[in-house]
Amino acid sequence: MSNQEVNKAFELSAMLLSHQTYQSLTHAIIHYFKSLDGVRDAAAYEIFSDSTNKNETLIRRFPLSLDDNFRDDKTDMLLKCLSKSKGGVISIRENDINYYFLDVLNNVKPRRVILIKGTVNDNDMALVNGLFQVYSSQVALLDSKERDTLTHLLNRQTLEITLNEIIVYFRGKNIKKLQKKSWLAILDIDFFKQVNDNYGHLYGDEVLLHFSRLMEKKFKNSDFLFRYGGEEFVIIVNNDNDKGILDILERFRQAVEEYDFPSGKITVSIGYTVIDPVAPPNLLFESADRALYFAKNNGRNQVINSSDLKPDEVKNAGDVELF
Ligand code: GH3
Ligand code: MG
Ligand code: MG
Repeated sequence: MSNQEVNKAFELSAMLLSHQTYQSLTHAIIHYFKSLDGVRDAAAYEIFSDSTNKNETLIRRFPLSLDDNFRDDKTDMLLKCLSKSKGGVISIRENDINYYFLDVLNNVKPRRVILIKGTVNDNDMALVNGLFQVYSSQVALLDSKERDTLTHLLNRQTLEITLNEIIVYFRGKNIKKLQKKSWLAILDIDFFKQVNDNYGHLYGDEVLLHFSRLMEKKFKNSDFLFRYGGEEFVIIVNNDNDKGILDILERFRQAVEEYDFPSGKITVSIGYTVIDPVAPPNLLFESADRALYFAKNNGRNQVINSSDLKPDEVKNAGDVELF
């Protein structure tokens, strides 16, 4: 490497190290890879080689924006690379196009990979390799702060940060005039204590794992999935209108009802609210929470929009403390 190249490597590593969240770190490295001469595309993915179903590999592409929902056509390529890779960088050529598959080291969960499409020249490849090492260790470090250890979903602290970022994104926009909005949904498994009581805590944990895999399967890549605590989950659904959000949450409620969990059948209650940037985050939680408690108090296994509660229902539902 020339002095100039060493300086560049140094600068780029420092740039990566300056990112404090997995989201912004991954944005930055994808942006850099896309800027290289000869690169046609680059994307990051989360891979769930499902412990609950050995035959199924679930792939979620890292979203570059809140409306980044299109399905990409890389699944076959990714599966092929995954079967070959033992971690690190491999290159493959298909239909006269070069691909580089970067499989994040340090055994992170879910597994994280980056796929670069195009030809990277030798000089740049040395940089790509070096930055990938930095990226891998940062991902492992950030995961330990940002993710729940059982389900590997994002944790409660990350929820606060993400929600604030979304509020900032919508600031200054009139939410009533927007078609596509972001929504905050709180999900609470019904009678989960009985699962533990009847089958034991380990079985209970297994049910929570199945539940989180179902979330990953059913929600868009651009939705953010959190374990809020115990048997409570939060989803930030992005880029959906009033009807779309009800449909997707209702479909998820139904998917849970139909799913065969290790302990048999379970159901979930869901309360949700639109993320209005003029409301402080704790008020957004309160709204979704009230809707959830209305669902709990009115038969469970249902989805309630906070804006559908009448004032007297709000008062009754508010009598019960959730968190
Ligand atoms: P409801 O329909 O009102 O939500 O009833 P519930 O039984 O789900 O609610 P409750 O809050 O009474 O009980 C929640 C239970 O979740 C209590 C606790 O044993 C269990 N739980 C919390 N965290 C974990 C965990 O990490 N693993 C397991 N297995 N169980 C947990
Ligand atoms: Mg609960
Ligand atoms: Mg519960």
